[in-house]
This record gives sequence, C-alpha cells and structure tokens, in this order.
Amino acid sequence: MNNIVYFDLSAFIILAIFDVALLVKRQVRDRANTVLLILIEMATLATLADYTAAYIENTSDVSGTGRTMAYLFNYLYYATQTMIYPLYTLYIYATNDIWHIFKQNNKARAAWWSLVAVNMLLLLINPFTHLVFEVTEPAIYHRRPLVIIFYITGFIFAIWGLGVIIKFKSIVKKDKILTLLILYPIVIAGVIVQTLKPAILIEMLSVAVAVLFFMIVLQRHEYQIDPITGALKYTTSIERINTIFEMHKPITVILIKVANHGNLRLYLGQSLYNKYLHMQTETFSSITARRNYPVDIFYFENGTYAILSDDYDINKAMPVAEDIRKYMEKPMNVDEYTVLTDGRICIVRCPEDIEELSTMFTFVTNFHETMGDTKDVMLYAEHRNDREFMIRNEMDDILNRAISENLFEMHYQPIYSVTEDRYVGAEALIRLRDEKYGLIPPGIFIPMAESNGAIHAIGDFVLSEVFDFIARYDLDELKLDYIEINLSASQCIEVDLVDKIMHMIATKGIDAEKVSLEITETAADINPAIVDANVQKLHEEGIRFALDDYGTGYSNIRRVTMLPVDEVKLDRSFVKEIDNPQMWIVIQDTISMLREMGKEVLVEGVETEEVAKRLTDAKPDLFQGCELIQGFYYCKPLPEQEFIEFIRDRL
Ligand code: C2E
Ligand code: MG
Ligand code: MG
Repeated sequence: MNNIVYFDLSAFIILAIFDVALLVKRQVRDRANTVLLILIEMATLATLADYTAAYIENTSDVSGTGRTMAYLFNYLYYATQTMIYPLYTLYIYATNDIWHIFKQNNKARAAWWSLVAVNMLLLLINPFTHLVFEVTEPAIYHRRPLVIIFYITGFIFAIWGLGVIIKFKSIVKKDKILTLLILYPIVIAGVIVQTLKPAILIEMLSVAVAVLFFMIVLQRHEYQIDPITGALKYTTSIERINTIFEMHKPITVILIKVANHGNLRLYLGQSLYNKYLHMQTETFSSITARRNYPVDIFYFENGTYAILSDDYDINKAMPVAEDIRKYMEKPMNVDEYTVLTDGRICIVRCPEDIEELSTMFTFVTNFHETMGDTKDVMLYAEHRNDREFMIRNEMDDILNRAISENLFEMHYQPIYSVTEDRYVGAEALIRLRDEKYGLIPPGIFIPMAESNGAIHAIGDFVLSEVFDFIARYDLDELKLDYIEINLSASQCIEVDLVDKIMHMIATKGIDAEKVSLEITETAADINPAIVDANVQKLHEEGIRFALDDYGTGYSNIRRVTMLPVDEVKLDRSFVKEIDNPQMWIVIQDTISMLREMGKEVLVEGVETEEVAKRLTDAKPDLFQGCELIQGFYYCKPLPEQEFIEFIRDRL
C-alpha cells in the first residue's frame, strides 16, 4: 500500500474525533454548531471514502468487485467532498450571526442551490457519461475533464465566503477573521498538491487542519451553555446578541420570567431548583421543536429566559408562547415536590419594538414588573401607547438624562402637628420632569434607580438641594422645625455617609437640627452594623431621624427599639383600612405603643377630615391619638415657592 494514503488516515482520525466530540458534548443546539457538525461529517465521510478507494486501487489486481467498489467509494468521496465548500459558506453566515442576510437574499439562496445542483447533476450522470471520473479494470482511477467543474464551484464558494468576511469585517471579531482566512492558504495548498500529484491524498488533511482551527477558535464551546439549565448563557453569548442588535437583524424574543424564582430556590434548595430549571428548559425546547419554531434559548439568571427566533412572524410565536404559558400554569413535579410556577411571558420583536440592546436588557430584567399580576402572554407591541410601561422600559435612559441634565426638582409636603396646631415641618419629595414623559413620580423611578445604582447620584442631589433650601430660608421665621429627607436603603450603607452629610451641612452653613432623615426598616435589615453606626453618628451630630413606611416591611420591633429614631411614620396602608374594626384596633394600639416608647407618631396619607379626626381624637386611658399628620387633607406636596407661600399664609 502506498504510504501517502496515511495523510487521509490522519485526516480521518482528526475529523472523526471532532465528530464524536461534538455529538457527545451535545453541542449542536445552535445553528453554527449544526452547520459545522454537518461539514465535519461530510469531510469525515469524504476522507474515509478517499482512503478506502485508494486502498482498493492499491490492492486490487484482479478484475471484478474491486473495480465496482473503487467506483462506489470514489463516488461517495465526490458526493461528500463537494458539499464541504457550500457548507463552509453557510458556516460563515451562521457563525457570524448574519444567517438572516443569507436567508432573506433570494439571489444568494438561488445561487447556492444552483451551484450545489450543478455538482450533484454532474455526479448523477457520471455513471453514464464518465465526465468526472472513471475506474477501469482492475481498479484504476482516472480523472476526467469535467472534474474541473468541482474545483470551480468549490472556488466560487470559497471566494463567496471570503467576500462575506470582508463585507462584514466590522462586526466579525479579529480572531474569527484570522481563523476563517487561515483556511484559504492551507486548503489551496492541499488542492494544488493533490491536483498535481493525485497519488498524494493530502487535500482532506488540509481540510481537517482547517477544521481543527475552527474547533479551537470558533466553535461555540460549552462555556456558552449554562450547565444547570442546558440553555445558552447570555453572559458568554453577549457578542452574538450584540451583533444581532447592531445588524438590526429581525428577531422575535419570547421572554419568560419565573416571578417566584426566589421562593422556589429557597424552598426547593439549590439542587432541586437547578433540576426544576433544567426541566423547564427541556420543555421549552420540546415545545418549540414540536411547533417547528427555530430558536436559541438563553438563560438570563434569576428565573429569566429569552427565546430568540429568526422567525419574525408573530403568528408563529404566539402559539409557542401560549403552549409555554399552559405548561407553566400547571403544577410541576420535581422529585417528590409539587411546584407551582408564577410565570410571566412577553413577546418582543426587534428592532420593531426595541431597537437598542441596552433598552432590551433593561426590559428583560424588569418586564415582569410592568406586567403586574397578569399571566396572559403580553405582546410588547400592544403596550406601545401605555405611558407607564414605556417609562419603565426606558428608565435607564431617562435616569441618565435626568442626572446629566439635572431634570430633578424637589417638592415639599407640609407636616401638621395636632398637639401644637401648626405646621412643624415638611417632607422633601423628589420629582423628575422628563422631556418626553413629563412628570414621573418617584414611586416608579426610585426603585429602578435603587436597582441600577443611580440612587447614589440622586441621593446626593436631594441632600444638596434640600440643604440649599434650608440655607435659603429662615426656618425659624417660617416656624418650621425641620425638613425631612428620604434616605434610600442603599444610601444608608454608604461608608462615607456621615462625613458627606456633615461636610455638606458645614459648608452650607445650616443647623443639623433642622435636618430630619427618613430611613426604612429594610435599610436596617440590609447591613445592621453599618446602618446602626451611620444613624448613631449622625444622630449624635444633632440630626433628627424618622422611621418611614412603618408597618409595610417585616416589622422588627426589636430593631426599631435599637435605632435612635425620634419619629415613626405609620404607612398609608394603615389609614386605608381604618374602617376595618380589627385594623382600627391595630392602629390605635400601635400609636399608643409607639408613643409610650417615647416616639413621635406621624400618620401618612390622611385624605379626609373624618380620618384626621379619628386619629387625633384622644380618649383618656384608651387611645392617645397621634401627634403628627401628613396627607392630602392638609396639603399635597408643593413646588418650593408654593410651599413657602402656603406656610407664610398660615403663620
Ligand atoms: P414616602 O416617603 O412614604 O412619601 C410619602 C408619599 O405619599 C409621597 O408620594 C406623597 O406624595 C404621598 N402622599 C402623601 N399624602 C398622601 C395622601 O393623602 N394620599 C395619597 N394617596 N398619597 C399621599 P411620592 O412623592 O410619590 O413618593 C413616593 C415614594 O418615593 C416616597 O414614599 C419615598 O419612598 C420615595 N421618595 C420620594 N422622594 C424621595 C427622595 O428624595 N429620595 C428617596 N430615596 N426616595 C424618595
Ligand atoms: Mg418618606
Ligand atoms: Mg412613607
């Protein structure tokens, strides 16, 4: 046997290893991997056929089966080898996430199929025409003139691939360009050698070496797949998502959120919770497969999935989303536990609905909050005129704009003292005046600013603004004892909070006692040590403290008794239920208890005279009544000037 067939044998070994590796690692979920796998399979078969044909040619000396076998293996070689270059072209589209460009271009598709058809046709008629190759007795292989057509079509596919790389070089990463280009000299060298010296079967080895590069540099490795869910990890696939948005590639995204993921993780424990997520992913992939809906499934952490599809037709996405909804609604058995998923599903089309990647990310993390309790499949497109929905979606941009252009302003809501029959202070409440959406209430933007970190800049603005306000007016002349400022939980754990506030108070020349800071029970929960220390130090400097929204969090009376708060603000939700006799008992006892603890008690959200009366109507030994009231009944939050006028009018 001729030594040079060992090239083919080596190629076969390399390719077969990749073949098995790809299949064993089940790396075929996405399109690029699928195309690469088919390419490798074709190359493996071609190599095997080439090697076997050569083996037969070298060993057959008598006529008969040898010739037929040699013919068949050469036939198999050409049938598979000629598919390598068309598949390579497809691979370039797939691995660079520009598949849609190929899919949408009818001419390109027609050209691809025509070239493949030419090859196939030549092969089909070869048994009758022997235009491509021939095997003569005993088993001697001959090339015939039209074999050149295979080289020409292969060359066209190769140039085509090169053209695509060059055209889209701005979005293709450097290492990819390099690797895709490396293929050319290697394969061209292989082809030239084998053409000149047909006995040296080196062409397939050059293909195998090129594939080796693909596998090492390009192939989407397991790190892209989340080991827990089996879905694609968005952190490592970010480059792909980036390209999709940069290219304005039309995609439909089905977003899925397990709204109760935190509880599930807690009650199932991590390993069962992982199993639950895995079962879910498997179901999503079988639903999409059954509906014949081509997808990539991404897992975004925290119970969030994004199912991306090239299919832009909303009528195809809808039944898939409905199937998923039905599946999530049903109780699920995870080992011996029955799990109920609180699912939210939303369909977004990009770029039509969302054009920017940053907006998409904000939406992915927040969309379930904008959906409230509805478990119906939500279509983004149907909410485009929904102001609050859009505000939430664009919140990152809105906040950035507001911070850089200073679009915040402070309003002040008077606080009335029942015992002193006068306004003793006010709560400073922030407002955001956006160019596009007008006035946005803090109830919407503060929680989002807390989650994206903007709260620190906003908090600094509020402190500085309110201190300026205190410096601007003579509060004593207005008979106001203090202005209350809301501190968000994340501000309470700022390491330099004390220094920052005391420095501002000193430079603006105001009296620390005029400042009252509102904190919440949640703040005390996050990091009790640092919150305690901050509050303690500021309190020692003379700053007053109020505990806000009392009764809404996990009321931890012990922690309340430990914090040096001067005032406790009963949340509006208490007042809302004042007509419930049981609740009325709770309100009275809470107020009495807090007053006995030496706290001033303020009730928030008082809107009517009747409620104000009930709350302040002290009955000796039974109910002490509250001292402070804040609510629309007395006054709404007002812009600075109106607030000053309001107070002056009542002096
Ligand atoms: P909060 O601190 O509990 O403020 C009281 C909220 O209740 C204010 O809403 C106020 O306008 C509203 N309110 C007062 N009286 C009544 C009433 O009689 N009826 C009704 N329905 N509502 C009343 P606002 O201004 O929308 O603020 C909402 C929340 O946003 C605040 O709740 C506070 O948690 C947060 N917030 C506001 N300004 C700031 C700020 O400067 N910094 C921080 N960190 N949070 C702020
Ligand atoms: Mg407050
Ligand atoms: Mg409050």
